[in-house]
Amino acid sequence: MGIISDLSIMFPKKNDPSRHQKLFSDFKNLLIKLNMRNNIGLKVYKDPLYNGIAGNEKYILISDSLVRLYDQNPAAVRCMMAHELTHVKYRDFGLYKAMIGFGVAFGVNYCRAINLLMEIRAEVEAYRINQFTSEEFKVIHNTFKQHNTNSKKIKSYEVGYPDRDSTVELCIKHKKFSSALIDELLMDFCMNMNVENSEKLIKNVKKKFIIAS
Ligand SMILES: [Zn+2]
Repeated sequence: MGIISDLSIMFPKKNDPSRHQKLFSDFKNLLIKLNMRNNIGLKVYKDPLYNGIAGNEKYILISDSLVRLYDQNPAAVRCMMAHELTHVKYRDFGLYKAMIGFGVAFGVNYCRAINLLMEIRAEVEAYRINQFTSEEFKVIHNTFKQHNTNSKKIKSYEVGYPDRDSTVELCIKHKKFSSALIDELLMDFCMNMNVENSEKLIKNVKKKFIIAS
């Protein structure tokens, strides 16, 4: 990871004070919408990709490239921040640690499937909390897709990520982290990854998640 810094240090105020104040107030609004504590921080790190990282329970990070995108496309920045904050809200880093033991017991596809659900939950929450229209959401993902490298479905599944097109489709279709969304994603995963006992995997993976009714 590149240099980590506060927004005001990496982008000194004399350049453009209003821009970063707006970005920061968007961040604070997302905390309110997600019912999260107000003392979570926002840090910036150097990365040529439009990216974000859920650091720990205290802060999230967004790339300096994403900060620069704010002028043209503030919605894309709000989308990424809401995604990372959702990881913090659900303490996904804790689940990630637990997953290592889980993987030893059940195999690598269980880890991939759990990671998939953490990622899709973060994204569907970003979509829901920001109240994007489906068109806005597609534009945001096209912006990310054009700038960042976009891997194919099976390659994505191998590292535990849904591919971008499926992500957009699932979020728009289901609108929240529902049982139907989870089933659809996991069934597609099992099919693409040739999982033998898919029913068992789906049942065990679903136990790890609280599902919105
Ligand atoms: Zn994520």
